Formats: sequence, C-alpha cells, structure tokens
Amino acid sequence: MTKSLDIKENIEHLRQRLPSGVKLVAVSKFHPSSAIEEAYAAGQRCFAESRPQELFRKIGELEGKCPEIEWQFIGHLQTNKLKLVLPYVSLVQSVDSVKLLQEIDRWGKAAGKTTDILLEMHIAGEDSKQGFFEEEALELLFNAGKYANIRFRGLMGMASNVDDEEIVLSDFRRIADFKDYVCDLFPELDAFDILSIGMSGDWPLALQAGSNMVRIGSAIFGERS
Ligand SMILES: *Cc1c(COP(=O)(O)O)cnc(C)c1O
Repeated sequence: MTKSLDIKENIEHLRQRLPSGVKLVAVSKFHPSSAIEEAYAAGQRCFAESRPQELFRKIGELEGKCPEIEWQFIGHLQTNKLKLVLPYVSLVQSVDSVKLLQEIDRWGKAAGKTTDILLEMHIAGEDSKQGFFEEEALELLFNAGKYANIRFRGLMGMASNVDDEEIVLSDFRRIADFKDYVCDLFPELDAFDILSIGMSGDWPLALQAGSNMVRIGSAIFGERS
C-alpha cells in the first residue's frame, strides 16, 4: 500500500520533470478512492480508469469530495457499458473499433452530448495489443464527418512491452509521425491535437517523441495488486 506522502511526492516529482505542455493523467485503476483523494489533495485533477463499473463506483464514492476532478476513460469499452462512462468523462482515449465509435456517436445524439475521443492505435509489435492499424484509422477519418457527435482529438498508443529503448522509441516515433500525417491530410480536424503516449515505465521516451499527454499509474500510486 502506497502511503499518502508517497503519492504526493510522486506527483510533485513528475510535475517537476514534465514540460508545461504535457498533461499528466493519473491512472487510478485498482487503487481505492482514498488514493485518488490523496492525489487530488496534492493538486492532481485529471484521473483515468479502465473499467466502467470501477469508474462508476468511484465517481459515487468521491461525490462532493473532489469538485474539480476530471475523469478520462482508457480501457476497453463494451458498447453495453456506455451509460456508465460517457456522461462522466471528458475524454475516451481508447476507441479501438468502428463499432464502438458508431455507438458513442449514437449515444451522443440521444443524449445531446459531443464526446471527445482518441483513436487507440496498434503500434507495438506484439499482436496482443488492441487498436487500429494506420490504414484502418485513415479510412475511418476519411469518414469523420459522419460522426456528428464525436470530436476527434488525437491518438493514443502503447509501446511494445520490452526493455529495448530503441524499440520503444521507434514505436512512439511511428505514432507521432502518423499523427502529423493525419493533421496534414485532414486539416478540417481542427481539434486533433492530443498525442497520448507514455506510461510509468516509458514516459521519458514518449516525451522525446513528442507526447503531450502521459498516462501514469504505478509511478504515482504504487504497484497494482
Ligand atoms: C494501466 C494503464 C496505464 C498506466 O500504466 P502504468 O504502467 O501503471 O503507468 C496507462 N495506459 C493504459 C491504457 C493503461 O491501461
């Protein structure tokens, strides 16, 4: 169990090292709401969860306690769980299929909400990782106008889970280059400005590649049990 003092120190340490244009997203999955309160007390405002029920439960537990909290969603989102997530989050980072995109758009039409999303890209070599291949993302973005209740904000990716920094950096450079390519190709996507790469173990490399959003869990809250 990470002590509150550690959480505060970890956040301050990260803040000192992250350039000002880089947003720190605290990944609180599997950690109790009390840990989120500690991070909030240390000034952290943006948190991300990866499971709909867990997000929903924590929102309830923290009601009235953290008035300026901002939630994001970073996990696999099944289309029958949208109601637990979409009303409460500022960003869905993990859109990994056309079907999910269509359902978020449909939900938004009914609810009168436009949802900010990132496309989750398949950048790592391993085939276990979810996400779009570049050709699939391009095809989807050619049709971006069809999704009236979606705002395309950028890309998210996870690098190969290896120790070789050159491989990790080349994964990150590839998604960074692809984001630039998309911005050139689709100037009408005028809010496509987020590159969410970098986690506890690899964020310095992600910064080298041009990340402007890092998703940090264990380096703030300790190991997940
Ligand atoms: C869990 C998770 C993170 C945080 O991982 P850490 O290594 O603990 O920093 C970041 N992004 C996604 C998509 C995750 O699921």
